[in-house]
Amino acid sequence: MITSRKSYVSKMVSELKPSGIRKFFDLAAGMEGVISLGVGEPDFVTPWHVREEAIRSLEQGFTAYTPNAGLLELRQEIAQYMYNEFDVTYDPEHEVIVTVGASSAIDIAMRTILDPGDEVIVVEPCFVSYVPTVELAGGTAVTVQALQENDFKILPEQLEAVTTERTKAIMICSPNNPTGTMLSKADLEGIATYAIKHDLLVISDEIYAELAYDENYTSFAAINNMRERTILINGFSKGFAMTGWRLGFVCAPQEISEAMLKVFQYQLMCASTMAQYAAIEALRNGRPEVDMMVKSYRRRRNFIVESFNEMGLSCHNPGGAFYAFPSIKSTGLSSQEFAEQLLQQEKVAVVPGDVFGESGEGHIRCSYASSLENLQEAVTRIKRFVESLEK
Ligand code: PMP
Repeated sequence: MITSRKSYVSKMVSELKPSGIRKFFDLAAGMEGVISLGVGEPDFVTPWHVREEAIRSLEQGFTAYTPNAGLLELRQEIAQYMYNEFDVTYDPEHEVIVTVGASSAIDIAMRTILDPGDEVIVVEPCFVSYVPTVELAGGTAVTVQALQENDFKILPEQLEAVTTERTKAIMICSPNNPTGTMLSKADLEGIATYAIKHDLLVISDEIYAELAYDENYTSFAAINNMRERTILINGFSKGFAMTGWRLGFVCAPQEISEAMLKVFQYQLMCASTMAQYAAIEALRNGRPEVDMMVKSYRRRRNFIVESFNEMGLSCHNPGGAFYAFPSIKSTGLSSQEFAEQLLQQEKVAVVPGDVFGESGEGHIRCSYASSLENLQEAVTRIKRFVESLEK
């Protein structure tokens, strides 16, 4: 007799938690009059001349697959961009892969480097996909907690305390989602010293590099001797306001890049062709719009950070990206309770900090990629909510 299975879903996937960001986004979508500071994406539309290039590529009938690693013309632009902006040299033919968003770059990086049981150190609070992608690749994610009192930067002794024989890589992100923290050159040098000492790879998620408010942004691969140990992840979603195009890239030394390309060719084959044509234009001529967007985000950051501090929710000043991560510990609520009650009572959607890791508890993530009028109204409502808790 055939006995039926309990479920066809693998044990690993059934144990995977859905993203906590989506949950709040979906909840808010079902309500009227909600101001959403929830989802992390630019509120700008992709510049018109960039969209036009995609249209032109369609008109010309460029509708076939591109090479697995992406159009060579785009890889050349990416290599040039990496050199011009971050002072790192990559060979466009062998060391650059155009991916389906930074998301697929993170995924192929993990699948490429991990054997079962290998450990990756993940600095939390962090983007929600890091831990699951390590686990789905058969590795073990070992989390370390960056704290607000340290500006959400990890201390070298914290890294030393969790490093084992199985540690293969460390995952970092600067500017960070959700904290906005930007690591200085000195911070990166500290991580470099640690990586050399333990012979580790560093996976550096630099998707928010364009949205660094400090002129002195440093790419991890630009740190002395680090290029050879770095898998550098970047993309077009944030800086160029192109989330829906699903286009990212990954740069790494040839041996690792070629290995990642093997995974990518079976996983996704190549990124969208029209998006790649648009990205060439974005890199060639998109600088004025990027600068304008950064200027606008900086103004909004100043407003929202000041507002949180004024209402007694201590908020550190983010050096980049478009997130404020104020502490809500003074209210006595958990981050889930705060976010749920704020949504019910005042119709403002934020993301509870605990979805980004243990040290995210006691915080909420507010994306300020929303109009200044929306932000002003959201601040009024959050203030009213916080005051109602004090009564
Ligand atoms: N890394 C970080 C830190 C992010 O915040 C995001 C998007 N929220 C991604 C990667 C994924 O970006 P993409 O749209 O390029 O897949």
